[in-house]
Amino acid sequence: MLEVRNVRHVYPNGYQALSDVSLTIEDGEVAAIIGRSGAGKSTLLRCINGMERAASGSIRIDGVDVVGAHGEALRQIQTKVGFIWQEYNLVERLSVMNNVLSGRLGHRQDLGSALFHFDRFDREVAVHSLERVNMLHRAQFRADRLSGGEKQRVSIARTLAQRPRVILADEPVASLDPELSEQVISDLVHAARDEGVPTLINLHDVELAVQFCDRICAIAQGVVVYDGPPSGLTDEVLNRTYRFDREWKSYTRGIIEEASAMVAAAYVRADSLERDAELVRGARP
Ligand code: ADP
Repeated sequence: MLEVRNVRHVYPNGYQALSDVSLTIEDGEVAAIIGRSGAGKSTLLRCINGMERAASGSIRIDGVDVVGAHGEALRQIQTKVGFIWQEYNLVERLSVMNNVLSGRLGHRQDLGSALFHFDRFDREVAVHSLERVNMLHRAQFRADRLSGGEKQRVSIARTLAQRPRVILADEPVASLDPELSEQVISDLVHAARDEGVPTLINLHDVELAVQFCDRICAIAQGVVVYDGPPSGLTDEVLNRTYRFDREWKSYTRGIIEEASAMVAAAYVRADSLERDAELVRGARP
């Protein structure tokens, strides 16, 4: 279980990116985080995996505190957090299998794993993870020979091989076309549910979030403005979530309309001046 309580985050320049964020994700539950760009979604994910330290509040993964952890204790927690990136972060020249096996590195202390000598158990976990995302048939391919959708499925398999206690995904389908996006999110959601792992997906595509996720957490300016089922995502909630975007768009639309009107008026004036000049020229003997 993932528990986030009253988390506040302040960047070194003094900017408060998260104000008082609280949410709980149960085992096997998949929640989407939505919100406009700059709302604080990635900051929240980075606080959960300890890449950023929350200024106050608590974050617990299976009851273990992340905010107060340092050094080896923090590293141990991070081995339990699977992170899926927008840009996959695969080692391009390695095979799919070795990329997925690298998800097991956090479980191994010996030099063998660093040299890619994994034991039978690690290999079984990797095979199972590749099967989960229908990528076992590509196990021996080099990662750089895969399409974008396949690369993201391999990165999901690598995360599953890690046997994480939390999965965090930061815009995992932002680089994919709509059809592939659906397949990848569907694979991720089903794998997370089947493995019983609490999962948070930062998604800019609200339709995908509604279609596949159990819960939606909407963030605006560092504050949770909605936390509930997709069915509760009304126009009023979306307005609260994207208000700043909408206000800004209508403001810029206003400026563009005003500028277009000024240009049109200038044309009309130029046109009438031209006609006046023609009249004057025509009146001359
Ligand atoms: P989102 O993921 O919702 O687009 P982020 O969490 O990346 O938003 O950023 C939230 C806010 O924090 C933004 O205003 C962003 O400019 C600011 N921010 C992000 N990283 C830093 C940083 N390293 N230093 C200062 N401000 C930052």
